[in-house]
Amino acid sequence: MQASAATQIIRLQKIRQPGLVLLALICGHALWKARSPTNHPTPSILRDTTSAVPVPCPELVPPSAPLDWMRWVADMGDTLPAPCTIVDTSSVRPKETLSGFLLRVGIDPLTTKEIAKILGKEPFSLKVGQKISYTLEHIGSQTHLRRLVIPVDFGKEIVVAQRGNGTYLLRKVSLPIVKTVRCVRGVLRTSFLADIIRCGAPKEIAKSISGAFGNLINFKRSLHPGDRFEILFDQVSTKGSMESKPGKLLYASIASNSGKVAVYRFPGKGGDSFYTANAENVQRSAFGLPIQGARKTSGFGRRTHPVSGRIHCHRGIDFSAPRGTPILASAEGVIEKVSSEHGYGRCVTIRHPGGYGTFYAHLSHFAKGIRPGMHVKRGQVIGNVGASGNATGSHLHYEVRLRGSPINPASIQSLSGNKLSGKDLRRFQELKRELDTSVKRIAL
Ligand SMILES: [Zn+2]
Repeated sequence: MQASAATQIIRLQKIRQPGLVLLALICGHALWKARSPTNHPTPSILRDTTSAVPVPCPELVPPSAPLDWMRWVADMGDTLPAPCTIVDTSSVRPKETLSGFLLRVGIDPLTTKEIAKILGKEPFSLKVGQKISYTLEHIGSQTHLRRLVIPVDFGKEIVVAQRGNGTYLLRKVSLPIVKTVRCVRGVLRTSFLADIIRCGAPKEIAKSISGAFGNLINFKRSLHPGDRFEILFDQVSTKGSMESKPGKLLYASIASNSGKVAVYRFPGKGGDSFYTANAENVQRSAFGLPIQGARKTSGFGRRTHPVSGRIHCHRGIDFSAPRGTPILASAEGVIEKVSSEHGYGRCVTIRHPGGYGTFYAHLSHFAKGIRPGMHVKRGQVIGNVGASGNATGSHLHYEVRLRGSPINPASIQSLSGNKLSGKDLRRFQELKRELDTSVKRIAL
């Protein structure tokens, strides 16, 4: 049996007088039974450390709580035949300090003070429920702390061990970490988050997915039952223990009738970020789309005006969308103008940092409370699609301006420098190939 939260190991050392042992066992059992009418959990193992053969003895069962243990040992008094060593684990209780913990598990005040002093120099804090292991040795009525193991971080432990001369030594231990890559795929039924978890992805990974897609997908509006998703993530575990935790989301894709959107984690210059298959940084795109999932019907530049028939320069991009579709601020900024203009109908102008501005026209409604001077976040609804002003059908006319002049919104991405190039691009393409292969190869 291994020492763990639920198990206790007793070692009887240096047994010299078998007669006394038997007497102690009988007394101990009688005392224990008399004081503890409730069922004891798992039976422990008595082990004689002088020989390698374990000696199971279900009759001598120590109480599970350390304080009971202390009383039990005291009850036994000097009749206890030999030193007993227990390895136990206890969880930190609410508002408990390290000293409080040590005293509670039966460590004397003097040792507690010493341990607290040694650990006081370490920058760690106790968390409620954190499991701390300790090894106590009971000799007669005295209890000695031999070893204390505090997990401080995943795969990291602080070990305080007693040396031969009785003093304590602190060691920081890093357990070897093993990484495994896992893939989860499934079909969207009700809620994207719930569906991913249902298909086997850990909660932490599922939660990071909407952020990974950035503005590429509006999770509230663009997803539909039947859409298929694939997620690749790694899982880290400590070698030799059952402890494991989800690592990082590496890849995610959502495929629907209108196509597939995929994002890849890539360690760029500013740290890990998600990139589209075209090596564009999802998070650092300066301007998002003003409408989710809308069809671009008219691009920037020269074209024949759909109403007048004259050739002119189209100052923005048109997105065709049903009347009432929410229009989103494509970047964070301050509302500059909320107005009704002859050709553009109801329109909103937003001022953004760096001399940029965005303009949204032909709205059916303004969002409630939208007024000049108001701060808006990226993705915040500022109004709804309509056909006010000169418009052939319901659509959004969207412009991006730099110091007042319209620029091609498509060029914004290169302006904000969010596309990988050169060496980084080659590294990304290599990593993308690896991730694509992994997705094809691994299935849960
Ligand atoms: Zn237009």
